[in-house]
Amino acid sequence: MTMASASLQEAVSVLKSTNVRMTPQRHAILEFLHSSMSHPTADDIYKSLEERFPNMSVATVYNNLRVFKDAGIVKELTYGDSSSRFDCVTSDHYHVICNDCGKIVDFHYPGLDEVETLAEHVTGFEIEDHRLEIYGTCTECTKMSKQ
Ligand SMILES: [Zn+2]
Ligand SMILES: [Zn+2]
Repeated sequence: MTMASASLQEAVSVLKSTNVRMTPQRHAILEFLHSSMSHPTADDIYKSLEERFPNMSVATVYNNLRVFKDAGIVKELTYGDSSSRFDCVTSDHYHVICNDCGKIVDFHYPGLDEVETLAEHVTGFEIEDHRLEIYGTCTECTKMSKQ
């Protein structure tokens, strides 16, 4: 079993335990998230599945993503006014983002918990979370620009 299908099976069983009914569309959306690992937007998912599910709308994709988010098997990444991206890796990790094509790649690094502790000390806030994003040019875009 590949990593992707193992984590897909895990997501499916989490969903089962929350009594969410599995539909072919739901399964296809989950499968896409786990196989592409590309942090797609709802629109990306819709476009890749519209041939298989001609009756599915972008709104359906969104609704399903909300269900997944509520069940804790998908994380939503918001970027200001551009549309949200969805991540099926729910463990803590950081993202490297390409400035040219917008590709998001997971980057595993020990959680920077001491930043949260320091922020709490300095500001008196009750810190809940932090987000770190690293920007650059991906290997494909670097190659393209050198051609
Ligand atoms: Zn790129
Ligand atoms: Zn990610």
